[in-house]
Amino acid sequence: MSSLSHADWQQRASAIVPESRAFIDGEYITTTASFVTVNPATRQPLATVSACGQDEVNVAVKAARRAFEQGVWAGLAPAERKARLLAFAEAIRADAEHLALLECLDTGKPISDALAVDVAGTAYAVQWFAEAIDKVGGELAPLAPNLHGTVSREPVGVVAAIVPWNFPLLMASWKFAPALAAGNSVLLKPSEKSPLTAIRLGALAQQAGIPAGVFNVLPGAGDVGQQLAEHMDIDCVAFTGSTAVGKKIMAYAAQSNLKRAWLELGGKSPNIVFADCPDLKAAARAAAGGIFFNQGEMCSAGSRVLVQREVFEAFQAEFAAAAARYQPADPLHPKTRMGAIVDDIQYQRVLRYIEIGKQQDRLLFGGEAVDTETGYFIAPTAFYCQPDSVLAQEEVFGPVCAVIPFDNEDHAVEIANDTEYGLAAALWTRDVSRAHRLSRRLRAGTVWINCYDEGGDQNLPFGGYKQSGNGRDKSLHALEKYTELKSTLLKLY
Ligand code: NAP
Ligand code: MG
Repeated sequence: MSSLSHADWQQRASAIVPESRAFIDGEYITTTASFVTVNPATRQPLATVSACGQDEVNVAVKAARRAFEQGVWAGLAPAERKARLLAFAEAIRADAEHLALLECLDTGKPISDALAVDVAGTAYAVQWFAEAIDKVGGELAPLAPNLHGTVSREPVGVVAAIVPWNFPLLMASWKFAPALAAGNSVLLKPSEKSPLTAIRLGALAQQAGIPAGVFNVLPGAGDVGQQLAEHMDIDCVAFTGSTAVGKKIMAYAAQSNLKRAWLELGGKSPNIVFADCPDLKAAARAAAGGIFFNQGEMCSAGSRVLVQREVFEAFQAEFAAAAARYQPADPLHPKTRMGAIVDDIQYQRVLRYIEIGKQQDRLLFGGEAVDTETGYFIAPTAFYCQPDSVLAQEEVFGPVCAVIPFDNEDHAVEIANDTEYGLAAALWTRDVSRAHRLSRRLRAGTVWINCYDEGGDQNLPFGGYKQSGNGRDKSLHALEKYTELKSTLLKLY
């Protein structure tokens, strides 16, 4: 972990000159179009970034296809791909302070989180899939004695990864690490709100020996994502973002070449606190972390906290106290726990939801912008809501929590599942039978019991039921997304 002080980070921030060009076929290239990325903690421009268009997309796809066909990556022994990906993970670790600073400046997230979560998690994802790839093999089919049948996995080919701005590096790594490990060529499209760390990865991949054309980074706006998703020579699109855009991605895939489309989308995850919760204070702290960590800009945010009526008052007091620790402050300060909202658009969106809450619900705490002269800061906010209120149904993607009372187990499940999403859920109880009963009844890809958001490792698959998406990131299951299954049958004479 870094020992740098606030002053050190400020000094580095003022001196930083980010690489801001597209990385295509092993080199940084300048495009004719560009856009400006902003530091949301200061509202100051951070860099002028290359904006790719159809020409760059075509060149990058050609390079990725060429690299794939030539076998410069897919054709390596798995142990060799492993070695180079391990070098990539080490290059990310060696560059941790620079990457974390870029992530902090570009998104407004706290520097300590950028180091401990975003950069560390990204390096680990790359390492984990590197280590896995020479250990997973195929199958021998149980066939008649005169037949020999194998089931093997081959890389799918050219993979586009389109990722959001909330965890720019980490969400990208959950796609490109398994895709590269499996032998694919990758085209990474970061969000225009936070492109800088993805761009930096191009140089680090190259330094690690990942051949030209195998890993490309195409900054630009949503149209670049569309061009990738519609491209006739891309085999797979892996998307993390909103449900609305996810629906478009599927349509683009269907209307073009039926490329496979993997979607990790939004959430409105319930965090259910029963009266027999083992530790109400711990539950309140976890609930605050669940919604205020990363400014609430988190797909798996525990944005609905369901509390059994008997403990509602007691919980509320603990929750308000825990939330106070997330008062927003300068993201460059190592002690800051909540930073700035990513940009003006998202900031206005969150403030609009807060206004809706003030009309429909009852404010418990927060409910206002702070340090408005400096940047896009919003106080940790909670409302007492009914299950059908707008704040209890729609994803805010900001530090705004809907706290909802419930009467009993059935009531809790009914409220919890009453959402178009199904990404995650949590419940707090001492009753082990109830824990298992509910984990079966909750329609969500992840259920946490007596914790929230645990599982920073790669071993648990992550993804959603219902309109939270399809497929899973993380774990060996993620490799399946980036491989084709081949049956080979040989008749013995
Ligand atoms: P978004 O608006 O859907 O954007 C996601 C990515 O898609 C960005 O790179 C964006 O580019 C691009 N894009 C926009 N329009 C497109 C189009 N028509 N065709 C192709 N690509 C397009 O989502 P966001 O606001 O960045 O991220 C927030 C959302 O992500 C939330 O709903 C959150 O829940 C979800 N999320 C889910 C997970 C998960 O694992 N389930 C994880 C993190 C976030 P530009 O940004 O440059 O426009
Ligand atoms: Mg930015």
